[in-house]
Amino acid sequence: MSQDVFVLVEHLKGQLTDGTFELLGIGREVAPQAGGRLVALLLGRDVRGLAEQLGAADVVLYVEDERLGDSVPEAYRRVLAGLLQEQSPKLTLLPTSSLGMDLAGALSVELNLPMIAFCKQLAVQDGSIVATCELYGGRAVVEAEIPEGPGLALVLPGACPADKGRSEGAPAVEEVKPSVDLAEVRVRFKGLIEPPPGDVDITRQEILVSVGRGVQREENLPIVQELADALGAALSSSRPVVDQQWLPPTRQVGKSGMTVKPRLYLAVGISGAPEHVEGMRDSDLIVAINSDARAPIFNVAHYGAVADLFEVVPKLAEAVKNRGA
Ligand SMILES: Cc1cc2nc3c(=O)[nH]c(=O)nc-3n(C[C@H](O)[C@H](O)[C@H](O)COP(=O)(O)OP(=O)(O)OC[C@H]3O[C@@H](n4cnc5c(N)ncnc54)[C@H](O)[C@@H]3O)c2cc1C
Repeated sequence: MSQDVFVLVEHLKGQLTDGTFELLGIGREVAPQAGGRLVALLLGRDVRGLAEQLGAADVVLYVEDERLGDSVPEAYRRVLAGLLQEQSPKLTLLPTSSLGMDLAGALSVELNLPMIAFCKQLAVQDGSIVATCELYGGRAVVEAEIPEGPGLALVLPGACPADKGRSEGAPAVEEVKPSVDLAEVRVRFKGLIEPPPGDVDITRQEILVSVGRGVQREENLPIVQELADALGAALSSSRPVVDQQWLPPTRQVGKSGMTVKPRLYLAVGISGAPEHVEGMRDSDLIVAINSDARAPIFNVAHYGAVADLFEVVPKLAEAVKNRGA
């Protein structure tokens, strides 16, 4: 086993994700503790050019193959399993994203490597991998340890500011030829389903007013939309609202929807289930309106009103409009 810390680089449509820089930021702290190098693993089709943006790493190992072009987890798993076996790093960091979640469990089983999920903090102390993990949307916090290593860690979004992983450095860039036959991959990528043209991208909004099942009926949505309009915000939602087709899937926040980090997230009639909280907990300011004082959304909200949304929301919209007048 080497003392190196490996980071899986994630990219979509030729762009590195924020999650990649967050992992590099953590890796930058942990690699010296381990006494090894920070190594970025870059897999894909024509990805060599992306290595220039991975200046936080000491080394970039890249694998180019046509069949790695569309993040098919099975193809990634085969290549990564071979690489990790050959290189034997002390710690490998993966993002808690669709790709990372697909890979971490499978690699753990295939390589018989221990894996810690939901990591919010990571360190190497006296040679052991130590993590603080947030479970159930933050309702339980646990410390976990892999004595000595090696191991895998699935890191939560927002565990480290992405800026900490951005650097002008010039890492050594090395091509690696996969030692596995990707012709055997059984899953084929068919296409990326893009958001309908013209719909707002809720991941880029400064203010989101998010509506949940508490709104009761589709006909009541305009009450909340009016508040969003007054605030210059976009309307997002919990999953039941999308499941009922009151809003398109592009508006869904959470585990199976979008991860958002607006300056203000106003949750209206949303209970705060872990799968929802996962997608919005890193918002700068969270305000919740819910008629149930025990709703878990109040555990993550900075401000909250225990109130009937049908009373409060129209008054709030009116107040915001009057303030702007
Ligand atoms: C694999 C998986 C993935 C999932 N992915 C997601 C996801 O991406 N996003 C997501 O949101 N969910 C997701 N879910 C579903 C999640 O578990 C919850 O069921 C969902 O988040 C609940 O939505 P909600 O808060 O709108 O509804 P509810 O849990 O029904 O909450 C409604 C809330 O409205 C309040 N309320 C009722 N009337 C009023 C009123 N008049 N005024 C004020 N408040 C009122 C209630 O007190 C309650 O807290 C997922 C579940 C699974 C199993």
